[in-house]
Amino acid sequence: MSAQGQEPEVAVVGSLNLDLVIRVAALPGPGETVVGGDLFTNPGGKGANQAVAAARLGRRVAMVGRVGDDQAGRDLLAALAADGVESAQVGVLDGVPSGTAFIVVRDDGENQIVVSPGGLDVAGAALRAAAVTLLQLEVPLETVAAAAATAAGTVVLNPAPVRPLPDDLLARVDVLVPNRVELAQLAGGPVPETVADAVRLVEGLAARAVVVTLGADGALVVEDGRAGHVPAVPVRAVDTTAAGDAFCGGLADALAGGAPLQDAARWAVRVAAAACTRDGAQASLPTPADLQSLPEAAGG
Ligand code: ADP
Repeated sequence: MSAQGQEPEVAVVGSLNLDLVIRVAALPGPGETVVGGDLFTNPGGKGANQAVAAARLGRRVAMVGRVGDDQAGRDLLAALAADGVESAQVGVLDGVPSGTAFIVVRDDGENQIVVSPGGLDVAGAALRAAAVTLLQLEVPLETVAAAAATAAGTVVLNPAPVRPLPDDLLARVDVLVPNRVELAQLAGGPVPETVADAVRLVEGLAARAVVVTLGADGALVVEDGRAGHVPAVPVRAVDTTAAGDAFCGGLADALAGGAPLQDAARWAVRVAAAACTRDGAQASLPTPADLQSLPEAAGG
């Protein structure tokens, strides 16, 4: 839980969205209408999810973002407060709606997501104090670039949803954390099928250090020209929503505690695996106690 008056260890600059989720048997095609189940609303947004992930692991976390002056905004702030995430730097803006994500989830877990984001000003204090600043691309690129330029600590960028990254932004990023599809798009190649494919794609990126999340295959860490594979923790995955967010929150948590990148990735793989064993986004994010019951990583 975040103690009042103490500096944050992790600052997260990013989105807070209300997720509107409907389960369907088949995803709709263009022009198609399908009938789904009941509507669920959940607090979400990659930024808020990653902030909650790190806070639930025990870090003091400050969120930098914005919501509208509406019920969704109040619910999103309440969700952060429930996990002790400091939200003094979440602006409440008049006359603009809170960010919303429309999500259709197929019964096997495959999904389609449309996000309606909002812009935000980057307030500096949290970013100058935090050991780790965690960024995603659900907010405007200028915001991400300004945050990366302001941050004093380790800058971690999860390039999701993916888009081309300007060189000067990449130069300010210490650790880039793409998934397989994002890596392929950034490197301009096919989606990697093996760890060796992923290593080759990473070599084409002008990034200082890269951690690629590989779904059920775990993660790949490439740093100083050395590549190390971190096997996944074998779990029965029931819902992989927010697995990537759990991973990023776990990585930030460990890096803020001073762990080397390879060790941080091992921790993140455990945090993400636990999130896969439970339904939902923020609801699935684990505490350290939840991680104790997980099996060890295969071969790890
Ligand atoms: P995203 O959700 O962003 O697409 P991934 O699918 O790569 O990202 O998942 C993120 C992390 O979650 C992986 O690196 C892995 O550690 C963990 N993970 C995902 N799926 C599974 C699974 N089926 N079993 C165990 N761990 C998983």
